[in-house]
Amino acid sequence: MALGVEGVAGELRSIYATGKTKTFEWRVSQLKAILKITAHHEKEIVEALHSDLKKPELEAFLYEVSGVSSVCKYALKELHRWMMPEKVKTSMATYPSSAEIVSEPLGVVLVISTWNYPFLLSLEPVIGAIAAGNAVVLKPSEIAPATSSLLLKLLGEYMDTSAVKVVEGAVPETTALLEQKWDKIFYTGSGKVGRIILAAAAKHLTPVVLELGGKCPVVVDSNVNLKVTARRLIAGKWCYNSGQTCISADYAITTKEYASTLVDALSSELEKFYGKDPVKSNDLSSIINSYHFDRLTKLLDDEKVSGKIVLGGQRDKANLKIAPTIVLDAPEDSLILNEEIFGPLLPIVTVNKIEDSITLIKAKEKPLAAYLFTNDKKLKEEFIRSVSAGGIAINEIALHALEPTLPFGGVGESGMGSYHGKFSFDAFSHKKSVLQRGFSGDPAARYPPYTPGKLKFL
Ligand code: NAD
Repeated sequence: MALGVEGVAGELRSIYATGKTKTFEWRVSQLKAILKITAHHEKEIVEALHSDLKKPELEAFLYEVSGVSSVCKYALKELHRWMMPEKVKTSMATYPSSAEIVSEPLGVVLVISTWNYPFLLSLEPVIGAIAAGNAVVLKPSEIAPATSSLLLKLLGEYMDTSAVKVVEGAVPETTALLEQKWDKIFYTGSGKVGRIILAAAAKHLTPVVLELGGKCPVVVDSNVNLKVTARRLIAGKWCYNSGQTCISADYAITTKEYASTLVDALSSELEKFYGKDPVKSNDLSSIINSYHFDRLTKLLDDEKVSGKIVLGGQRDKANLKIAPTIVLDAPEDSLILNEEIFGPLLPIVTVNKIEDSITLIKAKEKPLAAYLFTNDKKLKEEFIRSVSAGGIAINEIALHALEPTLPFGGVGESGMGSYHGKFSFDAFSHKKSVLQRGFSGDPAARYPPYTPGKLKFL
C-alpha cells in the first residue's frame, strides 16, 4: 500500500542525527514560526474551525488561536531555563561528587491529534516536542479536514519541514505511521484507539502519552452562589464546543432536594445565552458530523431516558445542532450514564446527601477531571483527598487546563502521562542523570581485600 508515509520516521531520524533540532536557536526559530502562523493567519484558522465545527469566532479565537500563541510565548519565555541542567544535591554514598539532571531530546516523535480543538490539540504537543529539541511528525484528525489541511499548508510554509512534518490521513495512514519506530508517541483521542496506539508502541518499546477522555462529574452542593454556579457550569458544559470537550462536565450530581432549583437556574441562564430556540443560535457549536449526531440522539431516544428530559431535546439534523439538554434521574443502567457523552447533554444524578456523590464517583472509572461547587470546606477537602481524577477544579469547570504551572493528563482509563507548560517539555525529554567526581575520596572499604580493619571504618 503506497500511502507516502512509509519511511517518514527514518527521514526525520537522519535529520535529527545532524543535531540541528537540539540547538537553542533552532527551537526558538520554530516556536517563533508557530507564533507567526497564529499572528498572520488568524482569519483562515477561525474559518477552518467554523467549517469543521461551526465553532463561534470568539471561541475559536480564545481557545485555539490565542491558546496556541500563549502556549508558544510561554515556551519561548521559559525555554532557556527549561534547557539548563538541574543541579542536585549528592549524598555520602558518592562523596565527594557533583550531580545534575540533563534534559535531552528523545529523538523523533509522533503526535496524533483529535478533532474537537483541532488547532490547539495539534500544536500544543508539537510546541512541547520542538521546545525539547525533537524532530516531529504531526498527524491531525481527518474528522476536522479543513483544519487538518490548513495545518499542512501553514506548517509547510513557515516551519523547517525537514524536521517538522504534517502527515494527513485516517486509519490506514495512522496505521502505517504506527508501524515505524518512534521515540515517543503522543496521542489524544478515545481509549479504544489509545489501546491500539499502546499495542503498536510496545513493539518498539516506545513510550507514550495517552490523553484520553471519560465521564467527568460535576458535584453541585446546595450552599453555592447559584447564579455563578449555573453560569460556570453552562460555560464548562455547553460553551466549550457544545460539550465536545474532554474536560467538559459529563454529568452532574446534586441532592434530590436541590435538583429542581439547579435545573431552574440552568434553564434561565441558558435562555439568556442561547435564546428560546438554541438550535438556531450561532453561539452554539454544531456536532462534528452525522455519526456523532446520531450517537448523541440515540442517547436521548433511549426509552429509559426520553421521559426524563427536563430541558431541551430539540435537534436540527441538517445543521447538526442539538439544543442544550438536561436529563434528570436517568436509570443507572441507561447509556447516557455509562458512555462518555461528548456533546450537549447533561444528565443530573440525585443523591440523598451531597457526601454520597463521592462514593458514586469512586465507583466509576477514574475521570480526566472532577468538579465540585460548594462552600463547605470539609467537603472540598474530602473531595480533593479521595476522588482520583486527572485534575480537579473547585467552583470551576475546565479552568485548571489553562494554568501552565499545572500538569494536564489523565489517570487510569483517562490516560497516562501529562503535558502543558514545562510538563510538555518534560514529556518529550529524557532526564539524563550525570554524576561527576574527581580522583580523590575513595573509601578504603570500596576495594578488596575486605579485611576486618576496613569494616571498622564503615
Ligand atoms: P479517536 O480516538 O477516534 O481519533 C483520534 C485520532 O486517532 C485521529 O487522529 C484518528 O485518525 C486516529 N485513529 C482513529 N482510529 C484509529 C485506528 N483504528 N488506528 C489508528 N489511529 C486511529 O478519538 P476522537 O473521536 O477523535 O476523540 C474523542 C475522544 O478523545 C473522547 O474520548 C475525548 O474525551 C478524547 N479527548 C481527549 C482529550 C485530552 O486532552 N485528554 C482531548 C480531546 C479529546
